[in-house]
Amino acid sequence: MSRHFTALLTLVCAAVTLAPASASATAKPPAEVDCTQVKCIALTFDDGPGKYAGALLDTLKKYDAKATFFLEGQYVKSRPAFAKRMAQEGHELGNHSYKHPNFTDLEAGAIRSEIKKTQDIIKQVTGVEPKLLRPPYGLSDVPTTEAATEFGLPIVLWTAGSRDWATKNEAAIKKQTLEVAKQDGIILMHDWVKQTVDAMPSIVKTLQSRGYHLVTVSTLIKQHNLQPGDVFPVPDGWT
Ligand SMILES: [Zn+2]
Repeated sequence: MSRHFTALLTLVCAAVTLAPASASATAKPPAEVDCTQVKCIALTFDDGPGKYAGALLDTLKKYDAKATFFLEGQYVKSRPAFAKRMAQEGHELGNHSYKHPNFTDLEAGAIRSEIKKTQDIIKQVTGVEPKLLRPPYGLSDVPTTEAATEFGLPIVLWTAGSRDWATKNEAAIKKQTLEVAKQDGIILMHDWVKQTVDAMPSIVKTLQSRGYHLVTVSTLIKQHNLQPGDVFPVPDGWT
């Protein structure tokens, strides 16, 4: 090896070694995606943390995709490690009640209790307080919106569903999800459905290849400036 080449190699190695250090010294957190400027979609997973949340989180991490988990308090209590990981890895945590009752069958006090117990356990386990409520079955009435207002929570439903709970079939879940995916869509899925978690690498890759940024609900709806008790989007049927 010539002396000249060795010197050049040393220089290149030094530059490579230095680059990460100087980059990290000046690194800023990545800017939040602006969904008024780029194509966004929000994948949402209800009723968890579900049994398969670990594999789902691995996939989301691998593809640098963010999601929103509407959690049940009872499962945050029984699977705290998953809830912590969701928060630590940049996903959004929403309130989906403690034990999944139909809020429209409950008295106001019982609705408040379901919301409060879930806010409390999520805060206690993850350090993060949910900013959004998705009532079980997407059903809300006046006492529900009043309770949501009291806790400072907009109510977020979905634009379309994967029908994963109904089909429990990997190919069908992928087909349905990609069919209903659209810009600014909010897709309903479940991390207790194994086939959903199995289909996720392919779904995420396909959405990203179509130009979507996979973002949290709060990032997606920022432009709408929702207020506590608002319901978004207005539901148009059962999916
Ligand atoms: Zn649910």
